[in-house]
Amino acid sequence: MALLEIKGLSAYYGQTKALHGVDFALDKGGITTLLGANGAGKTTTLRAICGMVRRDGDIRLDGQPINQMATEDIVRLGVAHVPEGRGTFVSLSVEENLKIASYGRRDKSGVPRDLDMVFTYFPRLKERLHQQAGTLSGGEQQMLAISRALMLGPRLMLLDEPSFGLAPLIVQEIFHIMRRINAEEGVSMLLVEQNATLALELSTTGYVLETGRVVMAGSSSDLKNDEGIRKSYLGY
Ligand code: ATP
Repeated sequence: MALLEIKGLSAYYGQTKALHGVDFALDKGGITTLLGANGAGKTTTLRAICGMVRRDGDIRLDGQPINQMATEDIVRLGVAHVPEGRGTFVSLSVEENLKIASYGRRDKSGVPRDLDMVFTYFPRLKERLHQQAGTLSGGEQQMLAISRALMLGPRLMLLDEPSFGLAPLIVQEIFHIMRRINAEEGVSMLLVEQNATLALELSTTGYVLETGRVVMAGSSSDLKNDEGIRKSYLGY
């Protein structure tokens, strides 16, 4: 059964319609990627799922409709958003950022265990526990953003351009850890990426968005071999 199922999703910024009936599904335990040019509606799709933009259409998490729910309730159901720009509190320490992330949790007893889990994936954050988040490197800030999402105990992570602005080696390191988190913690992922090569390597399924509509869907390996995708997104 699909963990996330989306049918006829539209989204609006004021009078402007940014999504025009988007349909897709994400398998439990899977990694799905959304590809598309600038302005295609990838970020808006993530925002619509977690209730941060006015939307209509059908959004189901594990069969339960969430399209009428407020963001905080969607988070409580286990959907963690790692936004573009990372959304860390720059003037707070690494430790404070991680603790704030766990405030809304019901199972407080799980917090120390999850902190340990975060530090096994990101030992660098443990070394920088008392450092101000704003002084971390870009890669470390992305690690912190993913860790904050992990502290929510998520079933589904929505990742918006985790590679943005980072050097290739750091990007590889972060993608490797994302793969481990998916495999070892069973966290499903919906990934938005400009770096289509990396995104299709990590994911099993992909969808291509164009001006707020899904224009192509397939397994990541089929998409990688598609001539149109290669020319438009992979650059060869
Ligand atoms: P990018 O890769 O550039 O982030 P994207 O595929 O994520 O692109 P979105 O950011 O979802 O695209 O934008 C989809 C459409 O919605 C665009 O036409 C954009 O101009 C518009 N849009 C996005 N955010 C807002 C906003 N806050 N107010 C008004 N229009 C917006």
